[in-house]
Amino acid sequence: MHDDVTSATINPYRMAVQQFDIAAERLGLSEDMREILRQPKRELAVNFPVRLDNGRIKTFTGYRIQHNVNRGPAKGGIRYSPDVTLDEVRALAMWMTWKCAVVGIPFGGAKGGVICDPKQMTPAELERMTRRYATEISIVIGPHSDIPAPDVNTNSQVMAWIMDTYSMHEGFSIPAVVTGKPLSIGGSEGRNDATATGVLFVTRQGAQRLGMPLRGARVSIQGFGNAGSVAARLFHNEGCKIVAVSDTRGGIYNESGLDPAAVLRHKQERGSVVGFPGAQQVRVQDVLEVPCDILVPAATEGVITAANADRVQATIIAEAANGPTTPEADVLLFKKGRMVIPDILANAGGVTVSYFEWVQDLQSFFWGVDEITKRLEVIMTRAFESVAERADQYHCDMRLAANMLAISRVAEATQIRGIYP
Ligand code: GLU
Repeated sequence: MHDDVTSATINPYRMAVQQFDIAAERLGLSEDMREILRQPKRELAVNFPVRLDNGRIKTFTGYRIQHNVNRGPAKGGIRYSPDVTLDEVRALAMWMTWKCAVVGIPFGGAKGGVICDPKQMTPAELERMTRRYATEISIVIGPHSDIPAPDVNTNSQVMAWIMDTYSMHEGFSIPAVVTGKPLSIGGSEGRNDATATGVLFVTRQGAQRLGMPLRGARVSIQGFGNAGSVAARLFHNEGCKIVAVSDTRGGIYNESGLDPAAVLRHKQERGSVVGFPGAQQVRVQDVLEVPCDILVPAATEGVITAANADRVQATIIAEAANGPTTPEADVLLFKKGRMVIPDILANAGGVTVSYFEWVQDLQSFFWGVDEITKRLEVIMTRAFESVAERADQYHCDMRLAANMLAISRVAEATQIRGIYP
């Protein structure tokens, strides 16, 4: 197994714009419309001090970017990571716009991020940082303007702090300001598993199209967080063999299959999947290249590149992460006949159940988990079929088909609303 370029060398925003330009060209979009949609509508950068447990004060930098709001309020997660950059958040915000459009939910796209290393922070420091960041971005977020959610290294507890901070400022509880909250304060059934459930739904359809049975299929998963760890459990329950998983510290491989519940327990106890008994240690990038039928990149951007795409062995690549595949790698994978189910479709289950959560919060009327799962399946199935049909029609990969579908919907909304004033 080989070395390859790291995601640090990839600029996600350049990647997102490149993908946009390819789809806009194929759609024959006017140059004026391209200029509107190519850049974010609004960018907020904040620098804010936080008191650490040792008494010192550290100043953090964070962002909240709204790419487009023509189809509805801005929507998208908040990530905490030392690798957050303005261009990364710009790309993620743009992908949220297309994601909401491709599944047909009435939201625009946004994203937030704070440059920090949550693994080095205490819970009290994380809470103070979150509350101060929420206060700083409270000038742009709101239940009818911009609704954050969890993303890399954030979870329902972080959402609870944001909801509480925003509500304290307003003087009453406003659950609909964030999604991905705990159930006890207006969260939705099924939200925790939603991203992975959506990945499973579209992978099932993809496999059906290819005549590949899911039972017994070998699955490799890069990333073991909100999306990856749940995907491992769900694919395992479906009869798949989870042959490899990884987290930021490394990967593990066992061709006879790993037990996801045992791996999760190991990670909870030791802080990493690394060292899981009975598995071979491999590097994070090796998990992308092990022999498997289904590959689920569930970590970050730019991991499948021109440098390693030829070594990807999976027939189906279901993108639980945002932006894991570069445009150059897309070309290589398409040539080899691989089915890439693109991020904006594959991982849209998360934001779709976020939409259900927001609707339930606004109505103060809550649905059961069966209703959530059924509605999610209807939306994901419909979106997959529309994208797959378009890919057949245009003889293109599913990313281009999904982008064309999404961009045409956003362009239509922009066109019909007209330009103010
Ligand atoms: N962070 C998730 C995503 O990238 C969910 C966003 C949301 O629920 O608003 O799709």
